[in-house]
Amino acid sequence: MVDSYDVICIGGAAIGSAVAYNLTENPDFDGTVAVIEPDPSYDLAQTSRAQNSIREQFSQPVNIAISQYGLDFIENFHENTQVEGESPELNYRGTGYLFLARDDDDLENFEAQMKVQHECGAMTRMLTPEETLAEFPYMDVSEIAGSRMGTMKEGSFDGWAFFQGYRQRAIHNGADYIKDRVVDINTDGTAVTGVVLESGRKIAAGHVVNAAGPRAKVIAGMVGLDVPVEPRARTSFVFDCRTKIEHNVPLTITPEGVHFRREQHHYMTGGVPNPDVAIEYDDWEIRHDEFEEQIWPTVAKYVPVFDQIHKVTSWGGQYAYNTLDHNLIIGNSPEMTNFWFANGFSGHGLQQGPAVGRAVNELITYGEFRTIDMSVLSYERIAKNEPFYENVVI
Ligand SMILES: Cc1cc2nc3c(=O)[nH]c(=O)nc-3n(C[C@H](O)[C@H](O)[C@H](O)COP(=O)(O)OP(=O)(O)OC[C@H]3O[C@@H](n4cnc5c(N)ncnc54)[C@H](O)[C@@H]3O)c2cc1C
Repeated sequence: MVDSYDVICIGGAAIGSAVAYNLTENPDFDGTVAVIEPDPSYDLAQTSRAQNSIREQFSQPVNIAISQYGLDFIENFHENTQVEGESPELNYRGTGYLFLARDDDDLENFEAQMKVQHECGAMTRMLTPEETLAEFPYMDVSEIAGSRMGTMKEGSFDGWAFFQGYRQRAIHNGADYIKDRVVDINTDGTAVTGVVLESGRKIAAGHVVNAAGPRAKVIAGMVGLDVPVEPRARTSFVFDCRTKIEHNVPLTITPEGVHFRREQHHYMTGGVPNPDVAIEYDDWEIRHDEFEEQIWPTVAKYVPVFDQIHKVTSWGGQYAYNTLDHNLIIGNSPEMTNFWFANGFSGHGLQQGPAVGRAVNELITYGEFRTIDMSVLSYERIAKNEPFYENVVI
């Protein structure tokens, strides 16, 4: 049994596997990689409970660039992940995102964000209520001031296949996936030296990556650091509608914070609980009341035929929520120079996986960002308590 690895990823879902994939794909990295994951079914990982969409409509150029790389990765998914000619079926559907504006203030914000998006090459466009209705004739636009539609590059995919693509290729490339749980991390001065597993096994490490999703804070605590990430409940509901809608139903975000989109023959929806507070790490409960009290009335307000729907299925989920600024946290700290954060995705970590996996690989291999400069998202801002806000959070 190997007792030492150059890099150990704590958590083997979307982010841990994206890091393992990128390291083992990089010809300049010639080290060994282990991924420690207690649950190979991934049943209770966010990655298995997501809604699997990708967009260019962010407010920060760095987040737009990160998702644009995610889109490139998806476009070349087969070449990127295939093992002996086979890759998982991604089933990508480019149906766009549609943000609905409530009033003139919303319109002003949408336009300012659109300017940034255009500067980054994302051709989003504003629609008046009449134009929104012409494009989506099933909608009631009487209570919106307008909308912003993304390009048809934005869309949805099979999130499980996406992450399995990385995972299978990383394993093929030589990464070891170890079924166990990290219960402690050994340190010496400003360096981590290895991890202690629940089984009692101890493994030395040259670098350790925190990819533990909502449990990021627990892992950071093992090396005496803090990270403002907590689990927040996000329930997903799938419903059927009696009346068939013939037109595109993009991922539509209402001013109330409810979102819905077509999912195969049904529709998928979710919202933000009120109050939106930290929950227990083991809480995967379905918030049924949310559907009855908040989500159903809202979707029926904007799409009147959604008055006649029935729930097909639902599941509980967690966001790894960054309470400082809702943005991902990447990088190390002077206190622990070979301990790497990749945390706090606040609901957009699947689409950010390709770029973040590549970036962590760059930090470990070269000691710097080589492609997308993510310095503004570094752990340094957390230590200084200086938020870097992303304003388009779903
Ligand atoms: C309802 C919902 C909708 C979403 N929709 C989207 C979307 O449309 N688009 C998008 O981009 N993102 C979306 N997301 C977010 C996305 O799912 C996450 O950002 C992404 O999956 C994060 O992956 P992760 O690997 O960081 O975390 P996780 O998937 O949570 O994985 C963390 C892993 O760490 C392991 N772990 C924990 N503690 C330890 C330990 N001590 N030792 C070893 N392993 C440990 C866990 O077992 C787990 O497998 C959504 C999330 C939810 C809940």
